[in-house]
This record gives sequence, C-alpha cells and structure tokens, in this order.
Amino acid sequence: MRSNDNNNKRWQPATVTIHGGKKRDEHGALVSPLYQTATFAFENTAQGSARFAGEEAGYIYSRLGNPTVTELEHRVAALEGYPAAAACATGMGAVSASMLAFLQQGDHVVISDAIYGCSFALFSHLFTRFGIDVTFVDMSTPDQVRSAMRPETQVVFLESPVNPHLRVVDIAMVSAIAHEFDARVIVDNTFMTPLLQQPIQQGADLVLHSATKYLNGHGDVVAGIVCGSAEDIELIKLTTLKDMGATMSPHDAWLILRGLKTLDVRMERHCRNAAEVAEYLQQQPLVREVYYPGFPTHPAQRLMGTQMHGAGAVIAFELHGDIDSARQLLDELELITIAVSLGDAETLIQHPASMTHSPYTPEARAAAGITDTLIRISVGLEAVGDIIADLEQAFATIASQHKHTQPQAIYG
Ligand code: PLP
Repeated sequence: MRSNDNNNKRWQPATVTIHGGKKRDEHGALVSPLYQTATFAFENTAQGSARFAGEEAGYIYSRLGNPTVTELEHRVAALEGYPAAAACATGMGAVSASMLAFLQQGDHVVISDAIYGCSFALFSHLFTRFGIDVTFVDMSTPDQVRSAMRPETQVVFLESPVNPHLRVVDIAMVSAIAHEFDARVIVDNTFMTPLLQQPIQQGADLVLHSATKYLNGHGDVVAGIVCGSAEDIELIKLTTLKDMGATMSPHDAWLILRGLKTLDVRMERHCRNAAEVAEYLQQQPLVREVYYPGFPTHPAQRLMGTQMHGAGAVIAFELHGDIDSARQLLDELELITIAVSLGDAETLIQHPASMTHSPYTPEARAAAGITDTLIRISVGLEAVGDIIADLEQAFATIASQHKHTQPQAIYG
C-alpha cells in the first residue's frame, strides 16, 4: 500500500533522487508544491507559543524551516546515507555554518592543503581572526595527517578529489586518525556527488555540497547542503543557520529537487563524456599533463570500487608554457564556456590560478601545485564530439600561429 511519506524507504539511489523525502500532496500533485512563503500562520496564540517552545511540531518562519526545503533535506540526507541535512544559501554557507557550529576560540582545525579557494580564504584569513588555529596539510599519508593533529583539533576538513588537481584523499584513513583525537571529519563531496562517493561509508561525520554544482545541475541556483547525524544537524540549524541566517530559499530548494531527479542519468553522461575528453587531451602535443582520476595510472584507482564509484567529470590539465598560453587556449574556444563553476549541462573551463584559486597567496598556490598553466574543465552534457571539436579547433588555431615552432616552444 502507498504511504504518505517517502522517508526511510530502502530504494536505490536513482529512485531516491526522484522520490526521496517526498510526502503525498493533499491534491495529488505529482510534483511537490513550492511553499514560497516567509512565514506561517498560527491558529491561535497557544499554537504559536507551543511551536516556539518546541512542544508542537510545525513551521514558524522560513529561516527556521520550510516544507520545500525540508523535502530537499530529506532527499539529500537519504542519498548520502545520513539521518539529517541542513540546506544552506550557498556551498560556502554550508562550509561556514557547519564549521562555526563546532568551533570556538582556541580550537584547531586540520585542512587538506589543496581545497576550493574560498574555503581556503575562510580558514586561513577569517577563522584565524577569531582565534581558531588552522593547519593545512598534504593528506597523502597517515604520517602527514597524524603529525598535523593536536589535542585541541576539533575538525578535519577535506575534499576528495582535491580541487583542482583531482588528487585523492583516503577518507577512511583520515577518519580513523581524526577519531583517535575525537575530531569530526567533514568532507566536501561536491565533485563526486553521493552517487559516486558516500563518505559516510569511510567514516566521515558530516558531508557537505555546493548544491550549485551537480546536485542542481542546471546552473540556475547557488546553494549548499550539509548532511550528518540528527544531533549535529540540529546544532547547525539552531546555532549558525538560525542566528547567522545563511538558509536556503524555498524557490532554490524547489529547483534543486527538480534538478536532482536526473542526477543519475546526468552523472552517467558527464562521466562518459569526461573519459573521452581526458583521452583526447592526453594525446595533444601542447598538453604537458592531464589529471583525471579515471586514468589507470592515477592514484584514485586504488580507491575505485571502495571509496569511489566513478571518476567524475572534472579534469585538470597543464599546458607547456606560461600564463598567456593558458589564457590563449581559453580565449580561442567557441562552444566551451569560460566560467567558474562545474556540474552544469554546459562544459565550463577556467584558469584556477587567476580565478577560483586567486584567493591563495602565490606561495600557497605554489605549495598546492596550482601553476599558471593549469586549466580546469568541467565536462558537460553536450555531444562529446562537439566538445572535442571545439578543443581541436582551439589547439589548431594556436598551432597554426606557430607553424614553424616545436610544441614546447610555442608555449615556452
Ligand atoms: N566546494 C567546492 C568543491 C566548490 O567547487 C565550491 C564552489 O565552486 C564550493 C564549495 C562553494 O560553493 P558555492 O559557490 O555554492 O558557495
């Protein structure tokens, strides 16, 4: 028999992306309604005060909760395998809301040395102003992670694959060490999505996303979400979300619910296209190196089938030459769009050193291996032949301008 509530159903992920967290609408609407409202009317003062006192379940005001947002939270929590989630205004809202819920003056945080530029800025510039000490570390080996830990370490934060090189971190290894020190492990799973990686399986305490990317997938929303235990999510909602206010709007939640329905088929196509583009790039004489977790020689391979269930669709590559070489290639493209996001239907390309990772100091960029000739491409859903043809014409234009020059010298 049909139930009114799709929470706690044991469906496969592709089904959860469509039905998870959904409640039967009183009018039988196939698509859940959008509760585009700032506030909720109480029947009387007794009900209002009971809701504020937490004695009666129900909505009060959309910064504190909204049915459309709740449906999204249930759906993403189910996909990630956690009991609860908190939807946030942006991915950075999810990073800052979850961190600030667990940290106070005097605490210490351990962070992967290569992460998204604004996460780097938040930890290295803002948190240190409030007396939170931060250690950035290359998380390749247990010894490196262990050496960064201290008795006052509260949180270990990482991305895997690591933006923008696609270096991978063994989440189970980091979780085991962090838990010896009673620290929480928070994983930014934006690049992989819960369909390709579920960090809870490797012991992560919380997982967050820039929902701007694959979860929504259509480039029309900026949003974030964090998943975890009921207690941790309650803490995030009642402290940093309620009082600092970076909550998700119902309209954004509704758009992400729509986008999520196709996550499974989108990821399949994204990954297939990316494998072909990576193969193509590797054969280009002007390309010095391609970073793609799907290559048999990539260190990600040892985590395939356990931590990772696919290579994703973000590729980074180095050109021969200097910063102008990178700029020239991007400027020659006609179909592929120069833009700093990922996970959209459109193939997007960007130059990390001058764009996403410009908040890094030049020294930090060098330490994280973000060179001036590194380019990141988020492979989209177009016909892969058209994506490759665009790269081909850009490379050909550059080569024709340097007809008598060796590839290395074109950019050297
Ligand atoms: N995490 C990763 C890995 C990202 O790439 C980004 C943005 O590009 C963010 C977090 C921040 O997300 P948002 O732009 O939605 O705030």
